[in-house]
Amino acid sequence: MNLFALLDQAAARFGDRGAVYHGERQVWTWAQLRERALRLAGELRGEPGARIAVASENRPEIVELMFGIWAAECVYVPINYKLHPREMADIVADSGATQVFASPMIAAQLDIGIPVETIGAESYAQRCRAEPVAPPDTDPAALAWLFYTSGTTGRSKGAMLSHRNLMAMTVSHLADFDAPEENCSLVHGAPMSHGSGLYIPPYVLRGARQVIPESGAFEPAEFLDLCEHHPGCSAFLAPTMVQRLVATGRPRPRNLRTVVYGGGPMYVDSLKKAMAAFGPIFTQLYGQGEAPMTITGLRRADHLDADDAVLGSVGYARSGVAVAVVREDGTAATTGEIGEIVCRGDVVMSGYWNNPDATATTLRNGWLHTGDMGSFDERGYLTLRDRSKDVVISGGSNIYPREVEEVLIEHPGVTEACVVGAPDEEWGEVVVAFIVGTADPAALDAHLLARIARFKRPKRYAFVDELPKNSYGKVLKRALRAQLMR
Ligand code: AMP
Repeated sequence: MNLFALLDQAAARFGDRGAVYHGERQVWTWAQLRERALRLAGELRGEPGARIAVASENRPEIVELMFGIWAAECVYVPINYKLHPREMADIVADSGATQVFASPMIAAQLDIGIPVETIGAESYAQRCRAEPVAPPDTDPAALAWLFYTSGTTGRSKGAMLSHRNLMAMTVSHLADFDAPEENCSLVHGAPMSHGSGLYIPPYVLRGARQVIPESGAFEPAEFLDLCEHHPGCSAFLAPTMVQRLVATGRPRPRNLRTVVYGGGPMYVDSLKKAMAAFGPIFTQLYGQGEAPMTITGLRRADHLDADDAVLGSVGYARSGVAVAVVREDGTAATTGEIGEIVCRGDVVMSGYWNNPDATATTLRNGWLHTGDMGSFDERGYLTLRDRSKDVVISGGSNIYPREVEEVLIEHPGVTEACVVGAPDEEWGEVVVAFIVGTADPAALDAHLLARIARFKRPKRYAFVDELPKNSYGKVLKRALRAQLMR
């Protein structure tokens, strides 16, 4: 089965209804979108399995490119538009893409020695008028998407996702999180090259509108306005985006039904503020490019009357996924014991593109080793402690930065906090907290001493104007550690 089948079904059931919207304006119906994708595929005529890269801020054409590439049995390689042109060129080279589709802004910056088509140009419009192909019948194990990871711990790697992987993700999303219908909408606040784009398939299958903000990016006021205008809105948002919505001080737009947050830590305090502002519309996902959007989660209902332990957890295993916590020797950890989170299921990638070494360390005995540390509590909720590389070992004790950050962020004088380890002769490593905010060290010490073990308290505080973040909004602990080394 090819993921194109999802669009085929939507076009058969909802042909004349609006499919893709740019802001408030309808761009194509489902029948038109299907036809354009099949024509684009006719023009692409790539070898099956050829990689085709798409580098663009959020635009309506991304939806037709995604399905056009699948209709041509090629592999979709989206590139985050916020990357440096050099990083984009690295991904194009690593994937061996034979063609790149880029928005006008990006096409002007790319110089990579293979054809770059400018999305929206007249030559692009021509391509959408080619002779259409017939809907393909593809081996579900065939590659559909090369997902380049956000690379907070090193160079970006291409997770190989098949049609089957993304179908498993689609079914799990519809089973666990959201049940959209044709009178619903998916509003693309986050980049469609990653989290928001991965949610296109489930919403296409149900004939829900794809709404792309005209700004092509995340503007809180624009996002909230669109959720007033379009019916039954759902969105995937990174935790920082949720905080920016709350900071507008506006009430929940009447049509905003579901916000799925995840992809990075949402601190309990921030989550409570978001729920107070918008009500019980939040759903949490824990996933990674290697198991797209689907390892564990908390449904909307799980947030109601939940205690801090539940709100601070990443929930429990998603439908169709097995999740375990293991020790270094691979044996199962007991309840409460921290170990590496592993998972398996149809959603898990088949490996990293052109990287057998990384594949062998990550996929072992049929399990995906996530590189995240966590523990299950007696109720079965999984709590993420940290990336395995982020754990600070001070005087032989493991300190999980996330725990310290959760407490720091509760202090009214702290806007953002990030905890890392710095090398230390006496202790091996010591805890250092980078703080954005106005609190002073003595107040923070007192605040922490009242709440967590003394040995977890930072030995040093560094007050900064902002934290370094990558283009996905994830804090770059590497950069902070490097700063400490200097
Ligand atoms: P990426 O593959 O770029 O999406 O990054 C995946 C990583 O983001 C995971 O391995 C986690 O470390 C982190 N992450 C994802 N979801 C969550 C979540 N709900 N809470 C905390 N961290 C998360």
